[in-house]
Amino acid sequence: VPRLIPARTTPERLLQGATITALRRHGKQLAIVADSGRVLVVQLGMSGGLTVHDSPAPRPKHTHAHWTLASTHLFFTDPRRFGGLTTYPSLDHLHLHRWSRLGPDALTISASDLAPRLTTTRPIKAALLDQGVLAGVGNIYVDESLFEAGIAPTTIARTIGVGRLSTLTAALRLVLGRAVAAGGSTLRNYVDASGQPGRAQGGHAVYGRGGQECVRCRRPLRTEAIAQRTTVWCEFCQSTHCGK
Ligand SMILES: [Zn+2]
Repeated sequence: VPRLIPARTTPERLLQGATITALRRHGKQLAIVADSGRVLVVQLGMSGGLTVHDSPAPRPKHTHAHWTLASTHLFFTDPRRFGGLTTYPSLDHLHLHRWSRLGPDALTISASDLAPRLTTTRPIKAALLDQGVLAGVGNIYVDESLFEAGIAPTTIARTIGVGRLSTLTAALRLVLGRAVAAGGSTLRNYVDASGQPGRAQGGHAVYGRGGQECVRCRRPLRTEAIAQRTTVWCEFCQSTHCGK
């Protein structure tokens, strides 16, 4: 069991001399629970990451916090600074004051849980990016999941039938599972816990492929901003009529 030593900032001090007793994750947030019951929340956001190294030097680029464990070193890095560290007195506080505002986790949500959260007239893409609706999926994997499920990102969320939502939740699990298996993805500076770059970048069906051929029908993929985010989809393979 790792013993954590010093610290400059408050989040770092929270774990000073503590034993980690549990880890919890919800969406893009990871909670590290100390034996005192206090909790350090790591908001991974778009580019935040925890990496484990044998040696404290050299420090990884964009290090914001460093902990010395029993025989390794843990670093929190965040090149784009959308992530962060926050402390809570207990897991109950964390749930009450923070995680209760998040939607269910994308990896475990069912179609019947998702349906009542999509009563909006917003496009499905915008609804899925809202972490209060669904936690854990960002721009890239929303586009990939919608392609996989055959749903156009412009589809009005509340018009999607529960049958198609079932296809969507399965697509989310498939796409996220594939990305985890491939060692993460997305950003050029993304690294996994061992500090290795993610390998999934080349494996996207639509993300980063606007104007190129659809992998299914060979027609050019469309690209447009939806919810202020670059969105890529196939107008032929992805429908706006998703049954209700
Ligand atoms: Zn297509």
